[in-house]
Order: sequence, then structure tokens, then C-alpha cells
Amino acid sequence: MTRELLRARLNQKRCLSERAQCFHLEFEVEDAHEFAFTPGQFVSAVAEDAHGKQQMRAYSIASAPSGNRFALCLNRVDDGFFSNRLADMREGEALLFQEPLGFFTLRQPLTDSILIATGTGVAPMRGFVQWLFPEAGPDRSEGWQIWLVYGTRHETELYYREEFEAVAARHVNFHYLPTLSRAAEDWTGLRGYVQENAVRIVKERGTRASGPELDIHAYVCGLSPMIHAVRERLKDLGWNRKQIITERYD
Ligand SMILES: Cc1cc2nc3c(=O)[nH]c(=O)nc-3n(C[C@H](O)[C@H](O)[C@H](O)COP(=O)(O)OP(=O)(O)OC[C@H]3O[C@@H](n4cnc5c(N)ncnc54)[C@H](O)[C@@H]3O)c2cc1C
Repeated sequence: MTRELLRARLNQKRCLSERAQCFHLEFEVEDAHEFAFTPGQFVSAVAEDAHGKQQMRAYSIASAPSGNRFALCLNRVDDGFFSNRLADMREGEALLFQEPLGFFTLRQPLTDSILIATGTGVAPMRGFVQWLFPEAGPDRSEGWQIWLVYGTRHETELYYREEFEAVAARHVNFHYLPTLSRAAEDWTGLRGYVQENAVRIVKERGTRASGPELDIHAYVCGLSPMIHAVRERLKDLGWNRKQIITERYD
């Protein structure tokens, strides 16, 4: 069955990193007041290639629901069809896509949660954080501890850094932990890989958690090797499958 195509107009485009060619795109869905989705879901963008063949790629929604607006965060992939098409879009141009889908969403009831991402895997995490800690309206985090462990190579690729820092400054239960694998000497934050820092959080929390030690979830988004590494390390700590919720980009 062919699913209905929606149409959105690009309102604003921002380059998040020249080096990584990463872009933040803000869209408005046409002929709609509301665009309903659950934070963490993805849209399937659709376009014809040069041979008239329909191409479709998934992109996580990088925002929480807000009227008819939504955002994407993507980087160019060498010789990639859709990523370059999106990165080359101009404001005012239209995007065709299928309605949001996906199960990479916050589990209810909420628990302490570690959000773990690398690269553009930060997209659904931005949606979670906006939903949990809205700028306007009530806090939805219910006081649970939320860590965002965000890994990248260089400091210039910490997408949305100011936004996450601002949320962390407003909410004592939100912890923003950028982690660099190729940090410059003057970097004073965390170094290494996200899985090591996630393990450290779990171990430290274990010694002071008031509820059951395993009453915690990890949400992991990015490329397969990172997801595999995180899963293995958490399994070693006794975590079960249901505690680890993943979204693979490859
Ligand atoms: C559920 C889901 C959500 C996603 N959300 C996002 C998102 O929010 N932001 C985002 O940037 N991407 C996201 N992706 C990846 C996205 O769907 C595309 O795979 C990516 O943009 C490359 O598509 P392309 O058409 O440019 O490359 P293609 O033309 O499909 O591939 C060109 C070449 O690049 C390689 N390649 C494909 N994907 C990647 C990749 N991710 N990294 C490196 N090399 C690659 C291919 O093996 C191939 O050799 C998501 C994928 C899934 C499954």
C-alpha cells in the first residue's frame, strides 16, 4: 500500500559545522496547523533520483512537537543522494515525506535515563530534551535524572551545545556530558568514547540510587559500531535487552 505523502516548506537552514558539513533544517508542514508525532520518531523523505527512481531515506525528527513545525539535523555523506539533496535545499523549497514512524521513543513510566549519541544521532535526543524540559510550559521529567552523553571527535562538532548547556543550567536533573575522542589539549571536558562514560555514570549512580539499581534506561542513537559497543558494556553490567533502546542510522 502506498502511504500518503506530506509536504513541508523549509523555513530556516543553519550550518552547525562547516568541517562536518552538518545542517539544521526547520520545516513547516503545509496545510496543517498541527504536525503530530512522538519525540524520537523519524520521517521518511521521498524524492526522485536522476533516473526517475523514487528514493526514500529516514531522518529522525530533531525537535519536540510544536504546531506544524519540525526540524531535521543531517550531514553530507560522500556521494550520498539524499543527504546532499537536503544539505543543498534553499529556504522556501519543499520536501515530500511520509508521516512519522518509529519506536525510538521515551518509555513510560519514565525512569532515570542515559541518552547516548554520536554525530547526527543527537537529533532525536534534542527532541527528547525539548519535550522533557520545555522552555515554556511544565517540566515533564518528573525529577528523574537525565544524562546526555554526546560523543564526537572535535569540539566544533558539538551540535546544539549552547541549547543543551542552557537546559542543564536551568534543570539540576539534566546533565550534559559532551565527550571528545580527539580533543585538543585545552579541552577540559570528558574524553574518550561514549560507552566508557555511560558505564561510569551507571557505576556512580549504583552507589547512590534510592530505587532499584537497574531502574534505568539507555537510549542510544548513531552508527552500528557505537551502538554495539554500548550494548555490550551495559550487558556486562547486568542490564537486560529492554533497558537499552536503540536507533541505528546504518
Ligand atoms: C531510522 C533512521 C533515522 C535516521 N536519521 C538520520 C538523521 O537524523 N540524520 C542523518 O544525517 N542521517 C540519518 N539517518 C541516515 C539517513 O537515512 C541516510 O542513510 C543518510 O543521510 C545517507 O543517505 P544518502 O542518500 O545521502 O546516502 P546513500 O546514497 O544512501 O549512500 C551513499 C554512500 O554512503 C554510505 N552511507 C550511507 N549512510 C551513511 C551514514 N549515515 N554515514 C556514513 N556513510 C553512509 C553508503 O554506504 C553509500 O556508500 C537515519 C537512518 C535511519 C535508518
